[in-house]
Amino acid sequence: MTAVAETTDEDLAALRRLVHQWGVDRVRPRFKELEDTGEFPRELYRQMGELGFFGCCFPESLGGTGAGFRALAAVAEELAWVYPPLSAGMNLQAATVPLTIANWGSPDLVERYVPRLVTGEILGCNAMTEPDGGSDFLGAMRTRAVRDGDDYVLNGAKMWITNANVADVAIVYAKTDPAAGHKGVSAFVVPAATPGFQPTRVPCRVLGRLMPTNAIALDDVRVPAANLLGAEGQGFVVAMNAMDFGRLSVAARSVGLAQACLDAAVAYADTREAFGAKIGTFQLIKKQIADMTCEVAAARALVAGAAARYEMGDIATRESSIAKYFAGEVCNRAAQATAEIFGGAAFSDELPISTYLNYAKLWQTGEGSANIQALLIADDALGWKRMDRHRTVLRAGVAA
Ligand SMILES: Cc1cc2nc3c(=O)[nH]c(=O)nc-3n(C[C@H](O)[C@H](O)[C@H](O)COP(=O)(O)OP(=O)(O)OC[C@H]3O[C@@H](n4cnc5c(N)ncnc54)[C@H](O)[C@@H]3O)c2cc1C
Repeated sequence: MTAVAETTDEDLAALRRLVHQWGVDRVRPRFKELEDTGEFPRELYRQMGELGFFGCCFPESLGGTGAGFRALAAVAEELAWVYPPLSAGMNLQAATVPLTIANWGSPDLVERYVPRLVTGEILGCNAMTEPDGGSDFLGAMRTRAVRDGDDYVLNGAKMWITNANVADVAIVYAKTDPAAGHKGVSAFVVPAATPGFQPTRVPCRVLGRLMPTNAIALDDVRVPAANLLGAEGQGFVVAMNAMDFGRLSVAARSVGLAQACLDAAVAYADTREAFGAKIGTFQLIKKQIADMTCEVAAARALVAGAAARYEMGDIATRESSIAKYFAGEVCNRAAQATAEIFGGAAFSDELPISTYLNYAKLWQTGEGSANIQALLIADDALGWKRMDRHRTVLRAGVAA
């Protein structure tokens, strides 16, 4: 399934406008109400699914739009601009979960889950991280899957799993052969209704209430062997490929969040006065705005380059990682500069600036922290370890 999406630059611009306007009309005016009630905004996910925001990487036969990876990145960026937690949920519905099932699942799994995920009918989550660690998820993984007849039985615990409490289906990584290193991990599709699958919300005040984060206890969770993604022992390769999509998405989200910071900073600098003048007239503030403007444009170009590689059916591990690393730095600098420009107002609950600061740091941590990206990029540059050594050309993710 390798074909270049026929999405033109005009199509992409129209898609961006659609997402942006949807956010301006339907989400931004409801920030406070959504946060105050703390209820998961299920109806917004349905709307996003119906509008095609989740379907860019899938053909119509799987409920998608076939718009491609550049479109996926554009939607992720605009949703992060609208409100960061929605873009994290979008990644689960549009990339990490359905792309992994589409690439590694049996035809039955693909048919059963992918169309319903990308249309927003059901919700998915991705359970990799454990209480003992995320960066070294292979070394830290204590969850076990033991073959029992036609089933596997999973026991263990996961940590920090986004949307697990509202998900209908999870991708869960577990060790099937703890002595076999990276060949001892397997990946499973686990319906959330399976007895023994128990998510518990972990309150995380600094991220607001719309980003549900969970611990998951796995207590004798029995799944059919047919729910394996790839073969037994292929889970590390499945995870590494999934991580690439996650990195592309989080890079795009960092650009969108940096743009939200820049827009807020510009609006404030153009109205707030000090010493008898708009603060935007002060040269130090102009420099901050100029730096943000240039850096956001550069990060956006890196994301577009990585997305275009995927769209052509290439492996873009290196490009996704570079985009993620750079966009994460840019986003954090933009959030810091914006907080500085807002002065004391940055800490007002009425404004989203402190939320932006927290999400900027989260985007930099998830899908492989900044330190981990730096190590991967340097090892690859030095010729010591190719970044894409655990990747494989995938069968889905393009328009055809
Ligand atoms: C809100 C939230 C949502 C999340 N959602 C999900 C999800 O849906 N699914 C999921 O599976 N996970 C999820 N995560 C987990 C996230 O991916 C991990 O937090 C991340 O991978 C880092 O792992 P860790 O927190 O265990 O940090 P650690 O791995 O313990 O690292 C701690 C620090 O040490 C640094 N470090 C580690 N190793 C090295 C090294 N070799 N060299 C230099 N520095 C190093 C790291 O960069 C980091 O700064 C989420 C986390 C949060 C906070």
